[in-house]
Amino acid sequence: MSERSADKGVHELKVSAVVEETADARTLVFEVPDELSERFRYRPGQFLTLRVPSARTGSVARCYSLCSSPHCDDRIAVTVKRIADGYASNLICDTVAVGDLITVLEPSGSFGPRELDADVLLCAAGSGITPVLSIIKSIMVGGRGNVVVLYANRDRRSVIFADVLDDLTYRYPGRLQVLHWLESERGLPTAAAVEELVRPHSGRDWFLCGPAGFMTVVGAAAHALRVPTTRIHTEEYRSLQSNPFDKPIHTNGNTPLGDVAVVEVDIDGETHILKWPKHTPLLDVLLDNGIDAPYVCRESACGTCVCSVKQGRTRMRQNEALIDDELALGLTLACQTLPESPRVHIAFDQ
Ligand SMILES: Cc1cc2nc3c(=O)[nH]c(=O)nc-3n(C[C@H](O)[C@H](O)[C@H](O)COP(=O)(O)OP(=O)(O)OC[C@H]3O[C@@H](n4cnc5c(N)ncnc54)[C@H](O)[C@@H]3O)c2cc1C
Repeated sequence: MSERSADKGVHELKVSAVVEETADARTLVFEVPDELSERFRYRPGQFLTLRVPSARTGSVARCYSLCSSPHCDDRIAVTVKRIADGYASNLICDTVAVGDLITVLEPSGSFGPRELDADVLLCAAGSGITPVLSIIKSIMVGGRGNVVVLYANRDRRSVIFADVLDDLTYRYPGRLQVLHWLESERGLPTAAAVEELVRPHSGRDWFLCGPAGFMTVVGAAAHALRVPTTRIHTEEYRSLQSNPFDKPIHTNGNTPLGDVAVVEVDIDGETHILKWPKHTPLLDVLLDNGIDAPYVCRESACGTCVCSVKQGRTRMRQNEALIDDELALGLTLACQTLPESPRVHIAFDQ
């Protein structure tokens, strides 16, 4: 049973349609009741976290990007692609049917453009197209930007949203260009080939989404083209190790005396003054104190727990979500942040 409740962002949504996109991918369309519509407002590029039952552990949590666009789609939807031997993706594709209730966390994540009028380069492989489709539709309908998409797939039959992309390209000539890469015809994409393909568009902001191997290849192409890291935004697909639907794990409290900072935290219109042990991430401190801080992955990847350091010094154990520009603005991830000065002031204002 889920230990986080509706006021912590956990809800049950009814599946209103299941669409077979390819042999390996299904889109789940959800019905959001009117009273939850505010909670399910989202930005293109964000994802839902689904609770998937497991006989062994009770449940596992898996993130799925929204392929729908807040600018033109009435219903929210995610697309799930089977992974060989994957637990949740196969269970979802095999068993989820119209009318099922699925437990989900509210939309989350920081991937996606801040504004829709700038030109962007989007690079996706396989199911990495889901947030990319949401971004494309949002820019086309809600903005004035031009979009080039590099989209890699195994073969023609595995291309998710092939018709939708063709249709969008037809409707927005001159604004949208899709460069398909099929492994069946050209082998796996190499950094040198990607570099050649995207060179004319390399001055734009880059948004990369897909499995680790693809990200490495496109990252290497970006590096070769000397694209500043501040213009490269990534969403790496992987399974969560932790389970945000479970009760948060509390720290053991065996903190040596003297190894404690004091933190003032502004969150949800309240201010809390707390002791912050120097080796305990801020998010753990907040949850230990019963404060309803936002989080999903607790692994620095999703960006849900982003907050601002207003005063004092902190450091992160690791960071996969924030780019240099955001760090320069004082942003940090609560799940990774440790204190470096005796007093720190943090605000959840993002
Ligand atoms: C922000 C975000 C957005 C995402 N969006 C999407 C999306 O839109 N669509 C989509 O399809 N996916 C998406 N994903 C990926 C998704 O969350 C899952 O990771 C994916 O569905 C695989 O989950 P699974 O349970 O089927 O596979 P898992 O059971 O987690 O297995 C994944 C792979 O790892 C291997 N594996 C599992 N356990 C081990 C182990 N202990 N040791 C070695 N190998 C192991 C499996 O054999 C398999 O190949 C997203 C991920 C993130 C973080």
